[in-house]
Amino acid sequence: MKTNVRPASSAVEDYLEQILELINTKGYARVVDIAQRLSISQASVTNMVQKLDAEGLLKYEKYRGLVLTTAGEALALNITHRHKLLTDFLQLLGLDERTIYHDVEGMEHHVSPATVHAIESLTRQLKRQPALLQRVREGAPVAETKAKQSKSTHSKAQ
Ligand code: CA
Repeated sequence: MKTNVRPASSAVEDYLEQILELINTKGYARVVDIAQRLSISQASVTNMVQKLDAEGLLKYEKYRGLVLTTAGEALALNITHRHKLLTDFLQLLGLDERTIYHDVEGMEHHVSPATVHAIESLTRQLKRQPALLQRVREGAPVAETKAKQSKSTHSKAQ
């Protein structure tokens, strides 16, 4: 089975993301912790973990917790990267934390590698140009200019 060729579902990505974070922060990932983090029942988590084991993304041993396989870890690192990149980008734009979290949770599963690269590039450029970033955060300067022009000529046409 070509596990790492087929795109992973959003649910699979969220599981792998949480498992990697648990392993990185606690040193291990248990069903109970995954269930808590994803607000899903332990029975459902066990089912999913067994499915991921069958797909070759992790090794699940009931009493010893679970470890990611190379393929599972690659997918986990990929979704973790997208999550961080999108969070970083939206923070740069000055959006509030709640909006960022909500939007990133949706967007992270759907951005293509090409868009990821484009956002990476844009993020780098914006960080190097604080004046431009400031204008972006304040709103479109083009619209402001238009508004001023129309104000000076007509009253409020358009
Ligand atoms: Ca997620």
